[in-house]
Amino acid sequence: MNKGYVYLVGAGPGDIRLMTVKGQQCLEKADVVLYDRLVNPLLLETTKPGAELVYCGKLPDRHLLRQEAINDLLVTYGLAGKKVVRLKGGDPSVFGRVGEEAEALEQEGIPYEIIPGITAGIGATTYAGVPVTHRDHGASFAMVTGHDKSPNGQPLIDWSGLATGIDTIAFYMGVKNLPYICEQLIAHGRDPKTPVLLVRWGTVGKQKTLNGTLETIADIVIKEKFSNPAITLVGEVAKLRTKESWFERQLLFGKHILFGRTTEGASEIANELTSLGADVFEYPRFYTHQQEKAQIHFNDYEQIIFRSPKAVFWFFDQLKQQRIDIRTLQAQLYGASSKSIRAIESFACLGFPVDKMIHSEKRLVIGSNAWQHREQQRFESYGSHDFCVSHYDEIIEQSNFTCQRILDEDRVDTIVFPSAESVKVVTEQIVACNETPETLSKRATVICFGKSSYKAAIDFGYQVEVTLQEPTKEALIEVLKHTANEK
Ligand code: SAH
Repeated sequence: MNKGYVYLVGAGPGDIRLMTVKGQQCLEKADVVLYDRLVNPLLLETTKPGAELVYCGKLPDRHLLRQEAINDLLVTYGLAGKKVVRLKGGDPSVFGRVGEEAEALEQEGIPYEIIPGITAGIGATTYAGVPVTHRDHGASFAMVTGHDKSPNGQPLIDWSGLATGIDTIAFYMGVKNLPYICEQLIAHGRDPKTPVLLVRWGTVGKQKTLNGTLETIADIVIKEKFSNPAITLVGEVAKLRTKESWFERQLLFGKHILFGRTTEGASEIANELTSLGADVFEYPRFYTHQQEKAQIHFNDYEQIIFRSPKAVFWFFDQLKQQRIDIRTLQAQLYGASSKSIRAIESFACLGFPVDKMIHSEKRLVIGSNAWQHREQQRFESYGSHDFCVSHYDEIIEQSNFTCQRILDEDRVDTIVFPSAESVKVVTEQIVACNETPETLSKRATVICFGKSSYKAAIDFGYQVEVTLQEPTKEALIEVLKHTANEK
């Protein structure tokens, strides 16, 4: 049997857009993904449907998967011919034990690659507005563990060399040992007034920072109950921290949005919210596959209605496959949305809105399976219709695990329902995470796009805070700007 291939990939510090293009490509084609606790669970939403996802962090019901067990798993999957991604927070070579994993693969002759990532010491501090080197404030930079295998966990380090020889020091895993670290640096000659910056959950909406000096920071950390995962940055560069960094100043920084979804792919609006600094989780995830061949005579109809642009593209593809010239069809073409109308017109045919329809008994509606049952009554007043499925939208159950993680980490403070259908889909799925409309309404501010989504949400038992005046991106952003970041 063919040997598999293992990619040891750096996921970056949190913001999912900080993973390398190469790493992302590997993730998308992997059969198996073994991922750590610090990897943003949203990255798992980009794996292929059906990929096996193995969590290597702490679970409530079992202990940490030990390193040896992880090495064994990599080898087992590799020997079974799988494409495996071992996904690690930050950079795999920085306190990531990639050396041990590579060695295990090497011993078994399993081919592998190591794909670097942005390490937290650089990523988190950059998002906090502090560069690790600066021509005036820091000419050298070290990454140091704040915790090691010694019995008390206090790292054995050349403290004197570090204290006097390096300008900027990033301590990883160092919050617990912070008093010890500061004491050692001072005892070995570093100025007690040296600025220190702590960045917790850097590069994501939960990012928090603390400022102090070598002599004050340990007390501040206790007072603020600051804990891991955090980077401790020691050095003059830390004073470059301003009240808010470029990242924290973004319009929607700190917002954690669950955005209801009813089809495959990212919505433009959700993308826009992300670019304004929000953490956005589109839920659930869908896999769409096309109906291969239409079992229908398009020529029998006077009117054809398209539910979505996808339906339009599918229809024209069918015509091409069946060698049918559009000019031989008699039907008027209608789009259920302006996007669908634009798609029709991109084929040099006129598209009309559905409210311009007249009565006909020879009507065909084309759309995904999700719409089939909903369309029964919808066009009744215009006469009957046939429905033709162009696409099947299937929910990928895996996104429920992602959702569970996001909820466990308290990373949902806002829920956006762009349509009545999205209310139904989210509510059906969320049961898998032991949530109900009532519990979700307690956690999060519920925002509906319009009257029909509002009605659906109320009927399902949500407490709706806001219904948009206009179902637009601008109206949503305006509302989000003014809602609190925590419920
Ligand atoms: N390989 C990782 C480090 C793993 S050690 C990397 O290159 O970043 C785990 C430590 O990394 C945590 O204890 C914390 O100190 C740091 N860390 C990881 N992600 C972080 C984040 N988003 N913000 C702040 N610190 C983080």
